[in-house]
Amino acid sequence: MREIRSTTEVAPGILFVEGPASNWTVFHGGGSVELVDCGYPADRPLVEASIRQAGAEPAALRRILITHGHSDHLGASRELAADSGARVQTAADELPNVRREVTEQVTVADLLPSVLKRGTVRWAVEAIRAGGLGDVGVPAATAFDGDTLALSTGHRLQVVATPGHTSGHVCFFEPDARALITGDAVVTGHALLRDAGELQQLPAFFHHDVDGAERSARLLDLCDATAVLPGHGPLLRL
Ligand SMILES: [Zn+2]
Repeated sequence: MREIRSTTEVAPGILFVEGPASNWTVFHGGGSVELVDCGYPADRPLVEASIRQAGAEPAALRRILITHGHSDHLGASRELAADSGARVQTAADELPNVRREVTEQVTVADLLPSVLKRGTVRWAVEAIRAGGLGDVGVPAATAFDGDTLALSTGHRLQVVATPGHTSGHVCFFEPDARALITGDAVVTGHALLRDAGELQQLPAFFHHDVDGAERSARLLDLCDATAVLPGHGPLLRL
């Protein structure tokens, strides 16, 4: 059974959810909800449960912001948006990936060299069961404007471009809580990584552009963040 691993109220109205295999963040306030990322397609009931845990209703969902268009972050955003009237938004450079006009995502062929490594087969089976190979594209997704987003919940997010993992990957920084949502630019754990709890990059075969991903990870300004909310692995306090 799929279960939420942990939830943390990082700051008022910001609930970080460590999902079964990937994470999302619930922003809530003023009767509205906005999400950053959505887990896997199979995580939809957990996403809805986390919104209720935050004291809100899934029908109050106004927008789903996507760090990058991978199936373990897009999840059921298309269906959640359709049912609530929410918008799905991402960076302009990431829009083709989110709409699935292109697919910058690891394939079985990419995995072949490492398929004998411990954990890879198990990870792949679980990813496929969670809907990782399903049709997760959001044709109606739009690009957000500018690099500061005013959320309907009263929070604001600064967009931090971190291309490499995918062409238009972004992180989001909430300056009041000093919380950095990193997507897959850097993570603190993954089924295919040995050390959990440390800031690190995903294995290279997950990245569309390995050099770019490394550059983005290195340049990612963590100095001002006191909390890192990664796409995979537990919350990290700095
Ligand atoms: Zn990814």
